[in-house]
Amino acid sequence: MPHVTNKRKYKYEEGKIYHGFQCERVEHISEFEVTSYTFRYERTGTELWHIDRNDSNNVFSINFRTTPFDSTGLPHILEHLSLCGSQKYPVRDPFFKMLNRSVATFMNAMTGPDYTIYPFSTMNEIDFRNLQRIYLDAVFRPNLAYLDFLQEGWRLENKDIFDQHSKLIIKGVVYNEMKGAFSENAQIFSQSLLNNIFPDHTYGYVSGGNPLEIPKLSHKDLVEFHKKYYHPSNARIYSYGLHDPNKTLALLDKEYLSDQIWVDNSYSLIRNQERWTQPRFVHISSRLDNMGATIDRQNQIAIAMLMCDATNIQESFELHVLSEILIRGPNSPFYKNLIEPNFSGGYNQTTGYSSDTKDTTFVIGLQDLRVEDFKKCIEIFDKTIINSMNGGFDSQHVESVLHNLELSLKHQSPQFGNTLLFNSTVLWNHDGDVVSNLRVSDMVSRLRRSISENKNYFQEKINKYFANNNHRLTLTMSPDETYEDKFKQAELELVEQKVKLLDESDKKKIYESGLILDSYQKAKSNTDLLPCLTMNDVRDPPKWPKYYIQNVQNVRTQICKVPTNEITYFKCMFNITGLSHEEIQLMPLLCNVITTMGTTNYNYREFDKRILLKTGGIDFKLHLIEDVKDSKSYSVSVMMNTHALNNNVPDMFGLCQELFKNVKFDDSERLKMLIENYISYISVGVASSGHLYAMLGATSQVCDAAVNIT
Ligand SMILES: [Zn+2]
Repeated sequence: MPHVTNKRKYKYEEGKIYHGFQCERVEHISEFEVTSYTFRYERTGTELWHIDRNDSNNVFSINFRTTPFDSTGLPHILEHLSLCGSQKYPVRDPFFKMLNRSVATFMNAMTGPDYTIYPFSTMNEIDFRNLQRIYLDAVFRPNLAYLDFLQEGWRLENKDIFDQHSKLIIKGVVYNEMKGAFSENAQIFSQSLLNNIFPDHTYGYVSGGNPLEIPKLSHKDLVEFHKKYYHPSNARIYSYGLHDPNKTLALLDKEYLSDQIWVDNSYSLIRNQERWTQPRFVHISSRLDNMGATIDRQNQIAIAMLMCDATNIQESFELHVLSEILIRGPNSPFYKNLIEPNFSGGYNQTTGYSSDTKDTTFVIGLQDLRVEDFKKCIEIFDKTIINSMNGGFDSQHVESVLHNLELSLKHQSPQFGNTLLFNSTVLWNHDGDVVSNLRVSDMVSRLRRSISENKNYFQEKINKYFANNNHRLTLTMSPDETYEDKFKQAELELVEQKVKLLDESDKKKIYESGLILDSYQKAKSNTDLLPCLTMNDVRDPPKWPKYYIQNVQNVRTQICKVPTNEITYFKCMFNITGLSHEEIQLMPLLCNVITTMGTTNYNYREFDKRILLKTGGIDFKLHLIEDVKDSKSYSVSVMMNTHALNNNVPDMFGLCQELFKNVKFDDSERLKMLIENYISYISVGVASSGHLYAMLGATSQVCDAAVNIT
């Protein structure tokens, strides 16, 4: 192993056993200043990956490979039920109940197409141990009570639970959640894309649950799914941060693993999708969106292709870079050919390279276009691929994409441990080499070497993966005014089928069960069983870095010196309180277009190239600061955010200055396109942001600042 030097002193040694865990691999990864320890519990084969790093925001997560073979939402409902109480903590909804007993910086549980993960993070060690116990008990020893299944999954119940003669309907938390998800066009489209490009295995199903399939699930199926998929042999455990993993290893050994046996977990392995010999076309319907574009333009298209095996990390990395070169920004061929002719509302949310599945995918999608333009989109797609394959790319464009990638690696957020987990979950789930995957600089160097040795390097990849790839799906979607009625009809038929099989005594049981569930839900649970931090435990608050204020050319400037991995961050706040209400409402649009219009000295392509070559991007946002003591008063400003490598700081300031002094808005065609794309982007997102609009609407009644955003 070339990266391990003998001089470094490691806390754990390869080959040694610690609390039943064998330490299998130790590596230091200098670019992130982390040491990676891979342990395996000998008895069950459970892998524990610990990332040792001088970061007080410690993370812990338990991951399972969950591969459903139907769309009843098994993994999703199980995720909900695991959080309804366990052997040691028979308390429902521990995340919510822990809010005032913990100082967690993150608590969640998520179901993906082939995994379920339970992560949390906290800066306090006692809190870390408390949450760890709750999480481990929740996943390995959940109660999975029948009444909780009825509540979280689905149940047949009287519409009015106190009236035995009111009609029977289907209720349930996940059932309703998925009804919501399935009425959202963006969700319908991306779910259908996944199901149709991977039709043969687990990705062909809806892991969250199709509302019309959920009522096929029984409580027994769920208990069995837990036994099989939440077995320690099918689990992966992640820990990150400052805390010594020794206590974690001891806890796992003593409480959860030593009485378990090894099982062969190959039942949950995900196969590669068999490659097609012919491209496929699928058309689906969606809900007519009253908030969206006009009906003739409310269509979507995506062209999706299967790329490589996700565990081939170098190849996957290079295809990711190639995809960025093809798609992002005004210098990329797809932007020039597909977006600038302005016949759509811009890229849709499926666009990009994705390594979220066993075989990775590349997708180009457009939203808000006419049915007549589907053909045009496909023709442009093919032409762009051929032209890129024959003509190659502008070397400065390639360099700007690579620079941006390298810079984003150096930029380290306070959520580093969580980000590392999320970025590794899928690869780890497929037994990929997550440790080598952290050596991104090595991958970049290898790619640079390949490009310099072979000037057709990317063109050959385009030939292989794009021009000669039969595993290609073209998915189109159009609104259907009867979409919702059809769903309601199908739901009604489902209920009727179920009710037909019931006799009077069954109906009586359903009525009684509704009342039992109601009193069960209203019963107060004993939250005292949950651990709680005391004032003593939180005596030492996290230390904030020092900063000082200086006047730089008469501008009040706050300067903060902290280790930033050779990056300088620059934020600028412009007070716009004096503007009228109408002007302030236009600010988000201005923020959206200001960096992409070009300046007196650079056209928009040149300017974009410079931004990407020298900075991590320049970003503008509307910024509201409420007065904590007075709900009527607040200040409005625009916040500019950018960062650059230390040696590019003069260029970064130069670009900001160029923007402030010389921005141009005289290219009205371009401005029109940017505004139209912006409107599409906003209107497509209305359904998924419904709760935010409702919250803001409510807030605006009591707080003047919210009026500006509603
Ligand atoms: Zn859910």
